[in-house]
Amino acid sequence: MNNNISADRYQKMKYNRCGNSGLKLPAISLGLWHNFGHVNDYENSKELIHTAFNNGITHFDLANNYGPPPGSAEEVFGRILREDFQGYRDEMIISSKAGYTMWDGPYGDWGSKKYLVSSLDQSLKRMKLDYVDIFYHHRPDPETPLKETMDTLSLMVQQGKALYVGISNYKAEEAEKAIQILKENGTPCLIHQPKYSMFERWVEGGLLDVLETNGVGCIPFSPLAQGLLTDKYLHGIPADSRIATSGVFLKESSITPEKIEVITRLNELAKSRRQKLSHMALSWILKDHRITTVLIGASKPAQITDALLALDNTIFSEEEIKNIDQILA
Ligand code: NDP
Repeated sequence: MNNNISADRYQKMKYNRCGNSGLKLPAISLGLWHNFGHVNDYENSKELIHTAFNNGITHFDLANNYGPPPGSAEEVFGRILREDFQGYRDEMIISSKAGYTMWDGPYGDWGSKKYLVSSLDQSLKRMKLDYVDIFYHHRPDPETPLKETMDTLSLMVQQGKALYVGISNYKAEEAEKAIQILKENGTPCLIHQPKYSMFERWVEGGLLDVLETNGVGCIPFSPLAQGLLTDKYLHGIPADSRIATSGVFLKESSITPEKIEVITRLNELAKSRRQKLSHMALSWILKDHRITTVLIGASKPAQITDALLALDNTIFSEEEIKNIDQILA
């Protein structure tokens, strides 16, 4: 066992039951979309995993295409597990996904059985694991029959390559259909991973109800809107920010004067709750009992410890909710 693993890590975190399942997830989960590719500093990536695990974050979210280059986040994570976490596999929930473009040709994208089976096998090889805890279909495929995609998820569970399965980016109606098929197959949908933050609230229009009715958990991604819902962009674009260093998925054009005005007002409201905006953005999502865990990203270990402070205050008064709605309107 590793001496650098903190003995009191489980006292630092709250664990929530995922839907009607037997699985509990930490209220905060760590995603490896950014900062874990071959292009990133390996020691920093390693430090991020240590900081998370030592604070009770047991859940690590990956996908076939995370990097860059695609696939490298899984390789880096696998290396960190082998070097520093021997003996801790059973204390971790490791997720992967397929559904976006991964390799050239008709079998490296979307939702066919051919793509998903090959992709999970590749992910397991990259991480050098026997199974993942959760495997997701990453986005709905308008062309492949939903039954084929869902039957493939069920097959993965039956083969023991995934313990649980989930869906991501499915709208309410298509999620409902997918959940039904998985239920009929005897491999229930564990969790749904949608984009959800103060700036992106589509899940409130039906999806969360579908998940609750069917006993499916919810893990919102990009809860900080990739960093916009913090105080970091209030006075320009820092050189070490996602906009400056990557700029692909979060662009400088997102920082409009109107956006800064909204962020400034939210920041003031957070202060009145004795929180930073980054804390309030996370606790605002966690106030809803239908949310299992929020899926954050981090470029620095301190951002992970900062996120934990959100758990200190997840209760909002009616007036605070009203004020937030007004600012976001
Ligand atoms: P967030 O909205 O939490 O953004 C994380 C980024 O915000 C960090 O990398 C950092 O960027 C910045 N940040 C975090 N904390 C602070 C802080 N305290 N102060 C200032 N800046 C801060 O989540 P992500 O967009 O990273 O997504 C999280 C995870 O969700 C991904 O890793 C992935 O696992 C999953 N995901 C899933 C998708 C799907 O389709 N299913 C799509 C996208 C993500 P920096 O310091 O570099 O500016």
